[in-house]
Amino acid sequence: MPDDVPGARWRFALAWGTLEVFADGDTIPAVLRPTAAVLARLDGRFRPALLSYHRSPTRIPLAAVWPTGLVPAENQLEGVVLAEVHDLTCQCCAARFHGVYPDGGIPHFGSQLSAHRLVNGCPSCGSDFARSRIQSLALLPVTGH
Ligand SMILES: [Zn+2]
Repeated sequence: MPDDVPGARWRFALAWGTLEVFADGDTIPAVLRPTAAVLARLDGRFRPALLSYHRSPTRIPLAAVWPTGLVPAENQLEGVVLAEVHDLTCQCCAARFHGVYPDGGIPHFGSQLSAHRLVNGCPSCGSDFARSRIQSLALLPVTGH
C-alpha cells in the first residue's frame, strides 16, 4: 500500500483535509525527511507533519508548530500553525539559515499565528527584518555545504 503513512503518531481530521503529525521514533516518510532533519534540531514543539486536502491526494511536507508551553496532544490543535522549512540568506551579511516560515494561507492554522513569536531580523549581524529579510518562527544556522 504505497500511500500508507507508517507511524504517524497523531492524525487530525479537519473539515477539508487531514493533518498527520510525527513524533520522535516514528517512521518518517521519504517526502518528509528533509523537513524532519531540520526540525530534529529544534525543541519538541516543532513537529514534522503531512497535510493533505480531501480534493487532492498530494501530501504536503510541513512543520506543525505548537505555541510555547504546549505540547502535541490528541485532539489539540489550539494555537498550532503550519510552516515550511526554507533556506534564508541575510541580505546584509549573507549568513545562511534554515528558517521555519509560517504559511498564513492555510485555513484555520493561518489565523493562529498570534500565539507565536516571530524572529524578526538576522541573529548573526543584528540587521532588522526590513534590511535582512529574515523572518521566521525559528532559525538554525546552515551547517556543512
Ligand atoms: Zn545578517
